[in-house]
Amino acid sequence: MFQAAMHPKDILVVPQPVARCAYCWYVLNPLLPYPESWSSTICPVHDTWTRAQLATRRARRMTERARAQA
Ligand SMILES: [Zn+2]
Repeated sequence: MFQAAMHPKDILVVPQPVARCAYCWYVLNPLLPYPESWSSTICPVHDTWTRAQLATRRARRMTERARAQA
């Protein structure tokens, strides 16, 4: 079963949620598990959002590494 790695309150709320998007699902149905048969579909807004979060995390890691080497 797909489990969002974050609490629903941490998920970006989009103006037009997509029912089958795994992130929109948790915003629309905070108490229900995401249907397994839908296998983690992600809408374009949350796709961009998760990529941006990854990029932020990667940038932070690189900054920490650069600081450790200084
Ligand atoms: Zn979404």
